[in-house]
Amino acid sequence: AEHELMRTQRLESLALLAAGLSHDLRNILQPLLIVPELIAQRSDDPRLHQLAAVVAECGRRGHEMAESMLSFVRGSRRSSERFRVADLFHAVELLIKGSLPRTVQLEVRVADPELALRANYTELQQSLLNLCLNAIHAMPQGGVLELAAEARGQEVVLSVRDTGVGMGEETLRQLFTPFFTTKPDGTGLGLVSCKRIVESAGGRIEVSSRPGEGTCFELWLPAVPEEEPEQVEPAAAAGAVAG
Ligand code: ADP
Repeated sequence: AEHELMRTQRLESLALLAAGLSHDLRNILQPLLIVPELIAQRSDDPRLHQLAAVVAECGRRGHEMAESMLSFVRGSRRSSERFRVADLFHAVELLIKGSLPRTVQLEVRVADPELALRANYTELQQSLLNLCLNAIHAMPQGGVLELAAEARGQEVVLSVRDTGVGMGEETLRQLFTPFFTTKPDGTGLGLVSCKRIVESAGGRIEVSSRPGEGTCFELWLPAVPEEEPEQVEPAAAAGAVAG
């Protein structure tokens, strides 16, 4: 019980710390959102425009991360939007390219280019990024990292598969416990946050792993109809009948 209490206290102080951090971060990032625009307005140099766009994009991403960290610690629900899985994977691919060792081969497969999801885009992107970085970390000798998506019945399955070191029973059992990590510099919060994000989108995570062979994380999310029907305003519908 004392162990449990200590963990609760640690989580609470972490939440406080994160709330303070994300609040400050939002303020610190303000110039990154404004200055690039000013630079772009005042210069004809296309190279400078390009650089300003890169800085603005960093600012926007940082701002979104600060926002989602804040809403995570406040426990509020994030807005959700409809997007294509192919677009999401493309963004993740661009983001991990820089951290991809030469020995790791990346394979991305999306069964249907129209396959869509409804979730918080930034959060889901962050989750996939986390899973990919874990996968890369699990392949110090290199291997294959596979990102795949397909519809299975009423669900969409996003999978992140690696041919890395895999996990034993002991690790598998503690995977989603806050602060559980086997890395000297790990936080043990990556998978906890993935789980929360996937569950808040109405989904679940399944893991399969074999020591020495590799690991597969599957995110099962509710499928979204290809074209969601337009919401009919009750008043407009009544008007149509009357008119
Ligand atoms: P962290 O990466 O900071 O340790 P995570 O919650 O992301 O925190 O992961 C917890 C632990 O789960 C890792 O320390 C590692 O032991 C194990 N793990 C996660 N992903 C993989 C993977 N793809 N292959 C092997 N082990 C993994």
